[in-house]
Formats: sequence, C-alpha cells, structure tokens
Amino acid sequence: MIEELNNQILKCTRCPLYKFKTNYVPGDGNPNSKILFIGEAPGREEDKQGKPFVGKAGQVLTENIKNILNMDRKDVYITNVIKCRPPENREPEEEEIKACSIWLEKQLEIIQPDIIVTLGHYSTKWIFDYFKLKFSSITKLRGKIFRVNKWGKNITIIPTLHPASTLYHKEWREYFDQDFKTIKEILNKDKREGILKFI
Ligand code: URA
Repeated sequence: MIEELNNQILKCTRCPLYKFKTNYVPGDGNPNSKILFIGEAPGREEDKQGKPFVGKAGQVLTENIKNILNMDRKDVYITNVIKCRPPENREPEEEEIKACSIWLEKQLEIIQPDIIVTLGHYSTKWIFDYFKLKFSSITKLRGKIFRVNKWGKNITIIPTLHPASTLYHKEWREYFDQDFKTIKEILNKDKREGILKFI
C-alpha cells in the first residue's frame, strides 16, 4: 500500500519543485509502526539519497530514536510535509505545501499512527491544521501533548523542535531530548495498557 503510494509520489508534478530536485523523498521506515515522525522538507543529503533525515539533522533524530526510544529508525516511519527539496534549502512556500499535502494525507490514512511527532514549525502547523487544532508557535506548543480522535482511536500528537534547530542552538537539545523522553513514556504506558487511552 505505502509502496504504491510512494511510487505515485515518484511521478509527482503537482508543483514546480520536482524540476529542481535530484530525487523525490517520499518517506522511509516501517509503515506499520505506531509512530510517525514528520519533518519539513528534504535537504541536500536527503535529495541525494532519496531518504528523509539522513543528513546532519537526521543524525540527531536517529540518535534520539536509538538512545532514548531504544528503537531503530527502520522501526518507525519518517516523512516530510514536502517531498522534494526546495532549491538552496529555502523554506517551502504556501502553494508548494498545498500542492504536496495530498501525499501526507494519504500516508496518514495508510499508516494510521498512534503517535505523531511533528518536527519543527512546518509539520506542526500542518498537523494542527489537519486535525483542526489551534496552532500558535512551535516554541509554545512543544513540551505539551495533544489528543485527537481519528480512525476510530485516540491519537497522540507530540510537537517538538526541528532537530536542525538543536544544531544551531545547542541549548535547545535538552528540550528535544525531553520531548523524546515523553514519547518513550507514552510508548511504555501504551505497552502496559495494551491500548492508548486518554490520560
Ligand atoms: N530536514 C527535514 O525537515 N527533513 C529532512 O528530511 C531532512 C532535514
């Protein structure tokens, strides 16, 4: 299912970004995972390899998945709001986000994750819009968890910082790590109860 969808993404011409990219970056990991991580858009390394979060920011993310969640990145699913690298790593434009949204919507429908971790401003805003939650700013929303009901179950949304921001602001790494400890607690609780419940 996800392979079929990702093959469609590999032919996308819905916005001009496909003209500038080297590779499409649809997503990577286990589509049956309980956890979905969503970033902003591929960077240089991701564009080269066709995989999300394989550059410097990706190292930070992969490290925390391994060291705090005690998981491998192939056990979770990782994707971005935008599937093609914006030229010179510029921020994605509103029209590009709109055009690309169909793919993340379809990925969500297939994966139906229990936990959605949004990495930074763009994915947090996207997910808050999708679930009709009130978005303010990533700095205000991180450190909190949000519950929504979708696909007949309770979904936990955990907004956190973009891992790249922890490279520019070293002092933010602590917040990023704290948020991963929250994810771990929720996963443990889920394991204990067998099912996610509203707290
Ligand atoms: N930053 C993102 O938002 N996504 C990636 O895949 C890599 C860097």
